[in-house]
Amino acid sequence: TKFEALGLDMPLLNAIADLGFESPSEVQEKAIPILLQNETDLVALAQTGTGKTAAFGFPLIQKIDAASRTTQGLILSPTRELCLQITNEMQLYSKYVKGLNTVAIYGGASITEQAKQVKRGAQIVVATPGRMKDMISRGMVDISKIEYCILDEADEMLNMGFYEDIKDILSNTPEDKSTWLFSATMPKEVATISKKFMHKPKEITV
Ligand code: AMP
Repeated sequence: TKFEALGLDMPLLNAIADLGFESPSEVQEKAIPILLQNETDLVALAQTGTGKTAAFGFPLIQKIDAASRTTQGLILSPTRELCLQITNEMQLYSKYVKGLNTVAIYGGASITEQAKQVKRGAQIVVATPGRMKDMISRGMVDISKIEYCILDEADEMLNMGFYEDIKDILSNTPEDKSTWLFSATMPKEVATISKKFMHKPKEITV
């Protein structure tokens, strides 16, 4: 399939077939080869509904070491709804990757229950910034070894006033990770994040 040509392996191709996705969307076609082939930072301008979750989700799932229980990927998203939606999609996409766990962290639900889920082993954590910061400060989650950080709907997160939380969270992550930023628009606040926290990002627009 066309997904195969992007460099995706069998576990993902089988999950994609189960979902009935026939061909990659534009953002997937542009982002997936870049993210699979390079350890690079990426700024992607893409609206929601374009298939952007899979554009970062497929490469992330393929790059994660599922044999290790360490948290390797962090996805920050603006709202509880989006956080749950991304988590659900990641679980569908990784259904044939044995041992890979994605856990959702968001406000308005039991923090101890979420901490318990993280403790069982979550290679991928999907979080809203406020709850994430809270759990870091309480020692309930360790993101000091993440290799991939995804900022989803970055413009929305900044609109909602999460700049300081994001800055705090990123200061708890390794300097040499890759950061993938997705945003529908590029206001100067997003450009500032890119300039301050990313290294020579490749750029795509759809
Ligand atoms: P998103 O922009 O990530 O919110 O995705 C929008 C919707 O499109 C989600 O329900 C996805 O499951 C679906 N989707 C993502 N990629 C594809 C694809 N290549 N073909 C068909 N549907 C897709």
